[in-house]
Amino acid sequence: MVISQGKMRCNKKEVKPFRADKPRVYLLDVTNRDGAQSYGTRMGYIERTIINRYLCEMGIDQSEFSFPVVPLEENYIISNLELAKLGYLSPIKLSGWIRATPDDVEKAAKFKDLKHINLSISTSDVMIKGKFKGRKNEKDIIDQMVESVKRAKELGFETIGVNAEDASRTRHWKDQSYLEEFSLAAKDAGADRIRYCDTLGFDRSFSIYNRVKQLAEKIKLPIEVHCHNDTGFAIANSIEGTMGAIHANVDAIINTTINGLGERAGNADLVSVILSLKYSSGLQNEDILDPKINLKTSWKICHYVSLATGIPIPPNQPGVGSKAHSHESGIHADGMLKSYDTYELYGPDDLGIPAKVESESGRRIGVGTFSGRSALRHVLEKNDIETKDIDETLDLVQRASYDVKRTLITDELKLIAKYPQQVRRMI
Ligand SMILES: [Zn+2]
Repeated sequence: MVISQGKMRCNKKEVKPFRADKPRVYLLDVTNRDGAQSYGTRMGYIERTIINRYLCEMGIDQSEFSFPVVPLEENYIISNLELAKLGYLSPIKLSGWIRATPDDVEKAAKFKDLKHINLSISTSDVMIKGKFKGRKNEKDIIDQMVESVKRAKELGFETIGVNAEDASRTRHWKDQSYLEEFSLAAKDAGADRIRYCDTLGFDRSFSIYNRVKQLAEKIKLPIEVHCHNDTGFAIANSIEGTMGAIHANVDAIINTTINGLGERAGNADLVSVILSLKYSSGLQNEDILDPKINLKTSWKICHYVSLATGIPIPPNQPGVGSKAHSHESGIHADGMLKSYDTYELYGPDDLGIPAKVESESGRRIGVGTFSGRSALRHVLEKNDIETKDIDETLDLVQRASYDVKRTLITDELKLIAKYPQQVRRMI
């Protein structure tokens, strides 16, 4: 039976390969990894799947969606990789995060359709000493990373990223010799890119620009820029680190999370990063951003993550906060009434913000853990969703609702109705 909800493929634009002639900025979202692992954040597997779908609709190049060595993740990983093959999560690349050990690489390789992987190992003195307590030195770190990359290459991973954890605190900020030696060894072993991790939000925009530019000039590989927000610089550092790579004529891949979710003070907020690349000084006409990006998905994706995590969107969050397009003072309101560009760089339409948000009051019928066939039929018909088997759909709706502890939304029902086998596996 055909589902009357249009084609399920989420982004029709082709994935463009990294280009040697003109460097580009791609986005790799880590909400389902760095965000999912952060304190107090638990999202259901159906929610993480919908996040992958929305990232795909948004034209994000890659979602670091899982921990392949965590047994609990297995069914979610298998079902999402199947959904990628079925077109529901295509063309976004789904990638895993592991430690840079041959053992982790072999465990990740058990998922035969997992083709993209990032291997992480600490490179800073403070972490090597603090974590390994004298059992490893800088040379041992390189040896272990090289062995892991070679094993990943042998096992057929298509994209191998090597993460230099705590890259910003690796030696003195003016001494890049070890970071370069580490990265060149990774390249020689077969790595496709290096992730420069500002793991503690230590960098300033000036320092990250210089360090990434110098590193990129030396290694001539795409650089991932992974910034945390401990001093409030995550977005600025992501942009300036990226410009360092672009000015060294290599592609940059910015790691983001939706609503800035992530360890401690969080990571670089996805929508803010896109807004910076599209609208900030000197970048508006640069055309460096991946052309697949569709900013109009912003409102939907930010509100969904807020729903999934229970963390409200701050009113002053760039782009999607409730005050982000609000004006009251006389001079501002007068300017806005005459011309929108007097006090806004971008409008609510650019982010897909609806003119009116559906009211929370009034008569509503939803479906959840204790729903029956009648309510389910009503909601499916209202949303033009067909199902092959109403009893199976009801069973999955009840289980999924129990898992996420709330009434389901339309896109979750569409996923359940169209791909019951994959949903059953993950919940
Ligand atoms: Zn991180």
